[in-house]
Amino acid sequence: MDAQCSRHSVRYFMSDARHPRVICPEVHGNAMSECDLCMTIGPIVTLHRTPPTAMSRVWAMPPAPVLVFTRTTAYRHDSIPDGIAAFHALGAEHGFGVEATEDPEVLADGLGCCRAVVFLSTSGEVLTPRGREALRAYAESGGGFMGVHAAACTEYDWPYYGELLGARFTRHPELQPGLVTVEDHGHPATGHLGPVWPFTDEWYDFGASPRGSVRVLASADESSYDGGGMGADHPLVWCRDSGSTGGGRTFYTALGHSPEAYADPMFRQHLLGGLRYVMDSPEPGL
Ligand SMILES: [Zn+2]
Repeated sequence: MDAQCSRHSVRYFMSDARHPRVICPEVHGNAMSECDLCMTIGPIVTLHRTPPTAMSRVWAMPPAPVLVFTRTTAYRHDSIPDGIAAFHALGAEHGFGVEATEDPEVLADGLGCCRAVVFLSTSGEVLTPRGREALRAYAESGGGFMGVHAAACTEYDWPYYGELLGARFTRHPELQPGLVTVEDHGHPATGHLGPVWPFTDEWYDFGASPRGSVRVLASADESSYDGGGMGADHPLVWCRDSGSTGGGRTFYTALGHSPEAYADPMFRQHLLGGLRYVMDSPEPGL
């Protein structure tokens, strides 16, 4: 399937398996095109059927960017520059564009060109009212959202954000080594890990376990460190697919406090897997 932007007459197409999207490089963004499965129809496109042989030409077009948002109005992590560098490196290695910003107006102006929005150790209230509207519209129309570490310490005043992410941070013990229990290896963020993943982090506690409303991928083994506050059910990494309601995919990892984490190949693979999941693509550059 191919598509044409009705405003710029540019044929340009990117797709995930469930939600084909039309993306025009002339900034006015993308819209959901007619999807074979959900029949969502966007307002600015016309659709054409093209033979499969045309797909290679279409796939060769530049990918849509991943937007990494790092604004903080509360605690600011020293690891943010390392995290941004890691996402840029992943983009260079795997062929997808990355834009990092602290500017809430970038989100407020719309996320139509994004295939993944990453809140990387954001903190406090970081969105304008227009930005909240834009993020919600993006997520509810199939956009991928990924939160890393202090993303759970963000937008406490906006209930929708807590629902999107799955849980709210409450406290953490001291930074220390411990063990992550990998519960689910059938996910691109955890498939490369063994059953136990030694890591050094803050072992975030949450107000309530999100288990039941999300797919838990990994959890904290509180017997492996001091000061755990959630007991036997302590999820650290989870995801959710809202595709059945037309929404996007969400991934969250509580790991990622330290600058050193972002140089760790296992953690980088973890982040890449999260991106692959929220973009619903085996290779984010596609
Ligand atoms: Zn931290």
